[in-house]
Amino acid sequence: MKILVTGGAGFIGSHLCERLLDQEHELFVVDDLSTGRYENISSLVANERFHFIVDSILNSSTLERLMINCDLVYHLAASVGVKRIVERPVETIETNVLGSHTVLSLAAKYHRKVILFSTSEVYGKNSQLPFNEEADCVFGPTTKSRWSYGCTKALDEFLGLAYHKEMGLPIVIVRVFNMVGPRQSGQYGMVVPNFVRQALRNQPITVFGDGTQTRCFTYVMDLIEGLTRLQDRPDANGQIYNIGSTESISILDLAKTVKKATSSKSEIIFIPYDKAYEEGFEDMQRRKPDISKIHATVGYKPSTSLDESLAKIIVYEKTQL
Ligand code: UDP
Repeated sequence: MKILVTGGAGFIGSHLCERLLDQEHELFVVDDLSTGRYENISSLVANERFHFIVDSILNSSTLERLMINCDLVYHLAASVGVKRIVERPVETIETNVLGSHTVLSLAAKYHRKVILFSTSEVYGKNSQLPFNEEADCVFGPTTKSRWSYGCTKALDEFLGLAYHKEMGLPIVIVRVFNMVGPRQSGQYGMVVPNFVRQALRNQPITVFGDGTQTRCFTYVMDLIEGLTRLQDRPDANGQIYNIGSTESISILDLAKTVKKATSSKSEIIFIPYDKAYEEGFEDMQRRKPDISKIHATVGYKPSTSLDESLAKIIVYEKTQL
């Protein structure tokens, strides 16, 4: 197949591209290198089935040319990272809403299947765990820019489902939960690469808030496995699937685990949210997926434990020191 991958030079996108090339597909990757990095895909550019276009998904003429030529679209390009979202809310909203509109409207026009990347952030402050795909999206006030991210991704989902309903667009929506793995940047706030880098440098490990908030960290290759299983399933069209690990850990325990796994001398320090992000920042206290739907559809279950994921990330981060 010919596959268009938006955001293919990012952390998740680059791992996905490697797998799709292994499966003999021909790839057309569009990435504006805002949070993606050329180094992530530099080993792929020599492959004659890999075509890399540096451009924004807001450029509809580039996208239309590529859309006509492809059979399937993985739409990953988005503004990501809580820190970046809080610092650059205009960019977040414009990229995620207008860029996704460009991708989805063209896919609908040419009837190309889309795998739309969404996020666990759409559940917002919902406190009923585990999150089921039918659960409510509970966002905070619009004065707190953090919620703009989940809100824009929820709007993308609405739009994708609307094109499915009105124009028969084949679309599968995946809500990913705290992906981790080699190549993830710590620059935009993500906790695991931050902690590992701090620990390897024996710098303070910065726990935001009191560290009791919990997350389920999913190894990126487990995500890719779930995606490629959904890719060829017509019964997944028009559906939303959570993808993620169900192994919960508090952020303070994560800090201790990283410190131990790296034999680090770092101290663990607590930073109030106001200082870490912005005045009045609201975090999600707990986040855990219900993955029974994707399991029932394609037999998916993540197989990599957090300890195994951390071991691989530590090996990678050591090479980056
Ligand atoms: N966090 C932290 N220290 C850091 C970066 C993040 O304690 O250096 C916390 C953050 O406040 C959140 C959790 O770790 O509670 C996960 O943050 P991340 O940005 O990785 O993902 P989120 O789940 O917020 O989307």
